[in-house]
Amino acid sequence: MSAWESPAAPYVDWKPFADLIAARKRFVLTTHMNPDGDGLGSEVALAQYLASQGKDVTVVNDGAVPAPFEFLARLYPIEPFRDDWARERVEAAEVVVILDTAVRSRLGRVAPLLERPGLEIVVVDHHLGEPQFDGLAFVSTAACAAGEMVYDFLRREPEGLTAGIAEALYTALATDTGFFRHSNTDPEAHAMAAHLIALGARPESLHAQINQHRHAGRVRFQGAIWSRLELTEDGTVAWLEADRATMESHAVDHSDTEGIVDFPRTLRGVEAVALFSETPDGKVKVSLRSTGRVNVERVASRFGGGGHRAAAGATVPGPLAAGRERVIEALREAVEEARATDGAAAPSLRGTVS
Ligand code: 5GP
Ligand code: MN
Repeated sequence: MSAWESPAAPYVDWKPFADLIAARKRFVLTTHMNPDGDGLGSEVALAQYLASQGKDVTVVNDGAVPAPFEFLARLYPIEPFRDDWARERVEAAEVVVILDTAVRSRLGRVAPLLERPGLEIVVVDHHLGEPQFDGLAFVSTAACAAGEMVYDFLRREPEGLTAGIAEALYTALATDTGFFRHSNTDPEAHAMAAHLIALGARPESLHAQINQHRHAGRVRFQGAIWSRLELTEDGTVAWLEADRATMESHAVDHSDTEGIVDFPRTLRGVEAVALFSETPDGKVKVSLRSTGRVNVERVASRFGGGGHRAAAGATVPGPLAAGRERVIEALREAVEEARATDGAAAPSLRGTVS
């Protein structure tokens, strides 16, 4: 067991970003479609910092702020996407900072707006895979959240870290680590949390804001989805399905499926979990989770998606049943592969999960 030391050096060389910020005035920040706590928290933290430096900053996302994260939009305003407004904001910008993804298609309606010559693009991310944008890229897969990258940048000048920035960064950190229980929860994650709490982030209140403002339809929806849990015969792959009819009857949207896929990881013997949710345009959004040794990022990338080793996703063509069959087959193969290289011990009987 090696002793842990707080990383003295930053994850990446931030000087080119600092120089760009010093030289430019008008910024747009964006993240992936269906923005989550990490994307939104990273945006709101960086936006507050840039605004404190006298910059003109607009957050432009394809997708509304889900109810659990509305408090972030009170720390820095986030408007709903409108075509003309988004185009006008990006046209006025000198720099666009893309947070928590480096994949063009995940930006949705924002992606085509970035084609403008002369616009400088900066990626700040923590995913596997080559960034799909020309420009500056600050990516470390060692960071458990994009918010940890933003923190890594901002802590160079700790006096600029306000309580509001700390709350936004804590939201990013806590949501992407599943409140400090996923495999990306490392000493740096806890050290960062300690620093943010010292700066004024309130864990109890943030947890309550994120997780205790749900509506009853969501709880009933989760019950309906979980009650239809399916497993392969050998019990190594579990999957859930959220069809449009079930979503509509409980008046839930995509953001209400978040977290559902994590629960079947608690089943003894399960190696991988999938959630298939039907999108309004008839495609199938796939969310994948691993209990440790199956690399679900590799599976997702076979379907044009990506993510991390233990949490990944993709969007595949419908109908639901067809998309499900293809992905389950790939997950079975991935489990076989992991067993062939790693022995057959059930995850619950293994010592460590990486
Ligand atoms: P979730 O299942 O929570 O939507 O996503 C899990 C992880 O996979 C996240 O890190 C997310 O960024 C990534 N991910 C989800 N969907 C996609 C996708 O369609 N493409 C790529 N490249 N990554 C995805
Ligand atoms: Mn993230």
